[in-house]
Amino acid sequence: MIHRVLVATRSFGSTSQKPWDVLTEAGCDVKKADMKGEISEERLIDLLRDIDGAVVGVVPMTRHVLEASPRLKVVSMHGVGVDHIDLQAASQHGVVVANCPGANDQAVADLAIGLMIAVARQIPCADQALRREEWGRYSGSELWNRTLGLIGYGRIGRGVAKRALGFDMNVVVYDPYILPEQAGLPGVQLSGLEEVITSADFLSLHAALTDETRQIIGESQLRSMKPTAFLINTARGGLVDEAALYLALSQKWIAGAALDVFVNEPPLGSPLLGLENLVVTPHVGAHTQEAIERMGVMAAQNVVQTLLGGQPLHRVA
Ligand code: NAD
Repeated sequence: MIHRVLVATRSFGSTSQKPWDVLTEAGCDVKKADMKGEISEERLIDLLRDIDGAVVGVVPMTRHVLEASPRLKVVSMHGVGVDHIDLQAASQHGVVVANCPGANDQAVADLAIGLMIAVARQIPCADQALRREEWGRYSGSELWNRTLGLIGYGRIGRGVAKRALGFDMNVVVYDPYILPEQAGLPGVQLSGLEEVITSADFLSLHAALTDETRQIIGESQLRSMKPTAFLINTARGGLVDEAALYLALSQKWIAGAALDVFVNEPPLGSPLLGLENLVVTPHVGAHTQEAIERMGVMAAQNVVQTLLGGQPLHRVA
């Protein structure tokens, strides 16, 4: 029997042939979705017609979509976050959901540190000014000896902590699901949410997006941050109240922010994009040559193993 597989993510197999080989060597008939423009629920339903398995990026895998795709047996996220997939609906409809933990954590941890330095040293502004032939002077802030607050201490949070200790930063962490003995690294302290937010010079978000973490950074949290502090979000846009962040940045409650993720992606028309003390990247945290290959191979294996009657490497639901 030939299994039909949809690839609905732009970067799958874009840096190496290996992910495609996993699918084709298993005899799958592979269809690549045209990812230009918005992938609406209706478009996704159309793409999933007669499809047995799918590798997806951040597309709306809602109850409506899952109910309208009776042939679908497995969905693998090409990455980690599965907040855009209705896990309950998937279980009810017998659709296995899998993801790729460990495939991109180093890449995202690198970007989080990169964004900290970029915003603290105003690298994008300085770069753009020099291209306009302005030889400006930009006085930034150092990471050395500063306090890094982490919200979420899973794979990526730990990777950021490890790197930050190399900058002699003091690392304080809020993660209610971690025990003190699991902090893992000397120099990393577990603390309460408020303490982490108020003590941080750099506050970096690394929690999954859940009902509990949605808008974990809102107006009162932003007002309680140091006026010299920077907020970094490479996790999910929904962790931050963007309207409150706009006020915080424009009225200088905090010094700056750097975002790789947004509530709506792309954040077209967002007033945030007009702010000078904000550095932005288009959800590229996981986009290194190495991570794209690892995620692709793992996501393809998740789909193939399930379609062949086994278990995916990493099952979420
Ligand atoms: P992970 O599952 O290893 O870690 C998530 C951590 O969040 C866990 O330790 C969990 O205990 C913690 N957490 C849960 N609820 C919390 C709460 N209420 N407060 C604080 N912490 C809480 O996941 P990960 O691989 O480290 O990914 C972290 C985040 O990064 C996720 O949001 C993921 O979607 C996102 N991500 C973004 C990109 C990107 O391209 N920018 C790529 C990969 C992952």
